[in-house]
Amino acid sequence: MLRSLSYGQQIQVSSATIHSTQPYVAELADEIDSYRAAAVPATGASVGSVGALVLEDVGFEYHEGQPVLSGLVATIAPCEVVGVIGPSGSGKTTLVQLLLGLRTPTSGRVLADGRDIRSFGRREWVRKVTFVPQNPKLIRGTIADNIRFFRDGVSDAQVEQAARLAHLHEDVEGFPEGYGRDVGEGGGQLSGGQQQRLCIARALVEDPDILILDEPTSALDMRSEHLIRQTLGQLREDMTIIIIAHRLSTLDRVDQIVVLDHGRLIEHGTREDLAADPSSRFHHLLATSRAAQGVVR
Ligand code: ADP
Repeated sequence: MLRSLSYGQQIQVSSATIHSTQPYVAELADEIDSYRAAAVPATGASVGSVGALVLEDVGFEYHEGQPVLSGLVATIAPCEVVGVIGPSGSGKTTLVQLLLGLRTPTSGRVLADGRDIRSFGRREWVRKVTFVPQNPKLIRGTIADNIRFFRDGVSDAQVEQAARLAHLHEDVEGFPEGYGRDVGEGGGQLSGGQQQRLCIARALVEDPDILILDEPTSALDMRSEHLIRQTLGQLREDMTIIIIAHRLSTLDRVDQIVVLDHGRLIEHGTREDLAADPSSRFHHLLATSRAAQGVVR
């Protein structure tokens, strides 16, 4: 009797848990459906060289009649470094998803080398355009597993080459297990900076043409900060880099700044041009940041 009572209680607790998680599961299923609906087809034209990226009057709506991006017009030349800034909710993440081909513009087109990216084979596009998220997302497994990230064709030499580019190799050499080191639950066996560099290595391993990086908002250790800057400095020779910048200092080294606000591209130009224009949002941001730091110029 007692045992069956205790089992009964357990069933009750489990059923309550199932009920409480049901809305989240439904939301997840909706989200997966919306990604699937907007997916770029797996088969398509060969990308070849990505060339210049052009946003041609790009707009996007998650819900009909409620645009979160509208009328975006911009050209990003090959090997250009672009910093994207804008307040939270201005559409930076959505723009990145459009460039990655995870979502399709509801109006306008994204062109690469004059061709709509919708026409490209999805597999090739995701090799050419890679993304480093703001917070490292590591999987359970070794450093090599995390750099390879489910791509069977990636050799050990490629893994090491990417780690060297991301300035992670020196750290890996210091581990007795080398690339076989388990990263631990949530990457807990690595420092925040090492995790970030690992994600950069993962993005670089298949030699992309465009690297999109969402800058971490939380401070990294000084060495990692310096190494990541060094990596970006080296990469700018070979690929287009788009950085969602959360710190103004990051914009010191970009060729072009794009300012988003409420889904519109309100300014773009070089750092010098935007800083020199007293009516620009960027000028205002610089002035506010200097005032906050007590810098008078
Ligand atoms: P940012 O990255 O600049 O913070 P986002 O691109 O995340 O901006 O969001 C732009 C707008 O789109 C916001 O108003 C946000 O609420 C909305 N949004 C973002 N993701 C979704 C989604 N999956 N479904 C509906 N609305 C969304």
